[in-house]
Amino acid sequence: MDSKKITLSEKEIPQQWYNIQADMPNKILPPLHPATKQPIGPEDLAPIFPMELIKQEVSQERWVEIPEEVRKVYQIWRPTPLIRALNLEKALDTPAKIYYKNEGVSPSGSHKPNTAVAQAYYNKVEGVKKLTTETGAGQWGSALAFATQMFGIELEVYMVKVSYRQKPYRKSLMNTWGANVFASPTDRTNAGRKVLEQFPDSPGSLGIAISEAIERAASDEQTKYSLGSVLNHVLMHQTVIGLEALKQLEKAGDFPDVIVAPFGGGSNFAGIAFPFLHYKLTENKNLRAVAVEPASCPKLTKGQFRYDFGDTAGLTPLLPMYTLGHNFIPAPIHAGGLRYHGAGVIISQLLKDEIIEAVALHQLECFEAGVLFAKTEGIVPAPESTHAIAQVIREAKQAKEEGKSKTILFNLSGHGYFDMQAYTDFFEGKLKDHHLTDEELFSGLKNLDTPLIEQSVA
Ligand SMILES: *Cc1c(COP(=O)(O)O)cnc(C)c1O
Repeated sequence: MDSKKITLSEKEIPQQWYNIQADMPNKILPPLHPATKQPIGPEDLAPIFPMELIKQEVSQERWVEIPEEVRKVYQIWRPTPLIRALNLEKALDTPAKIYYKNEGVSPSGSHKPNTAVAQAYYNKVEGVKKLTTETGAGQWGSALAFATQMFGIELEVYMVKVSYRQKPYRKSLMNTWGANVFASPTDRTNAGRKVLEQFPDSPGSLGIAISEAIERAASDEQTKYSLGSVLNHVLMHQTVIGLEALKQLEKAGDFPDVIVAPFGGGSNFAGIAFPFLHYKLTENKNLRAVAVEPASCPKLTKGQFRYDFGDTAGLTPLLPMYTLGHNFIPAPIHAGGLRYHGAGVIISQLLKDEIIEAVALHQLECFEAGVLFAKTEGIVPAPESTHAIAQVIREAKQAKEEGKSKTILFNLSGHGYFDMQAYTDFFEGKLKDHHLTDEELFSGLKNLDTPLIEQSVA
């Protein structure tokens, strides 16, 4: 029998991150200043990010050294196992081989600590005393709470008010790691007070919480801000996932035909796919990489490629990306980590250049896939991760129909043990697929006055 679990030793934790910017055929466009609409420089970002991360954001170096202190913290849970999903293969009666990388084994239960630890470290080195951030479903807030605790930095988390009420255990987890958690919108910031004045019962949104966290960081010298997805340095930190998977598949004598990952802002997709895409970009290796987004928040498959803000208040730089508009309010589906209006800049360019693919799936198909995965492989996946599993099942069924073998690799971005309410709702028949009307789809785009992109492809 083929072995089920392919492990690496601690010594094999990658020494460097992979920066795909070095290999992209079309370079990304620069971020623009929100007021002047001119390209921004490092000094514009210095009030909210440490210099090393600003450098990484624009770096064209293919390999970037992972500091020893970061690798030491990674040792708590890395390298993560690569698992051959033999039971799932059997249940699907497919000739396809299915492998998954289990990022759910991290302290906070997802891939997010891979960048949280790196970001906390660089802030510590540059003398930062406190970080602020936002969190939706609580995955990012808890990852950063763990990471700041490792390096003795304080953390303020602005948690979207509905999630604060719906996910009390995520809040307790952040508190356990010493973070202060506030239900956003709060009366602690201008951005929050403005929303509360107009809508005292506002349930909050990720965009509002980002505005609050940035405002707090910008108004205090010793405080900086930290973002859990979308940005180039975040995507790069996540490449430890794919770099390990490369070595593990090499041990198994395999290379994927298709890589699948759920898609929120792009960090775990980038993490697993970019190190493999290196071979597509430099050696013409045949490889598909498929990002799976929820049908209720379809920026990659139905959004516009244009400049847009990362937050609701318009405080962030304008980023060139696929977006549904910074005022788009997604339906309250259970995969909270995928409910963001925009996509990472690098991902957007790769999609535009047809180097990667995207699909949008409805949540009932995803939960069904998640339950089949739990029944066969034993691990209850995060609602976000079920999107990847549903696409993997589609790929495996297609292989069966065609009578062809293929090797599928997917990222199990997190476990779902804090998300059992979502599964309860699914079992009780309370979850519905949300079919976006054209009106809803264009609600966030129609009044956008941010710059469109006219791009001549090289
Ligand atoms: C946050 C999250 C995602 C989506 O975010 P990306 O930046 O696109 O990776 C996916 N899965 C889990 C478990 C998450 O916590």
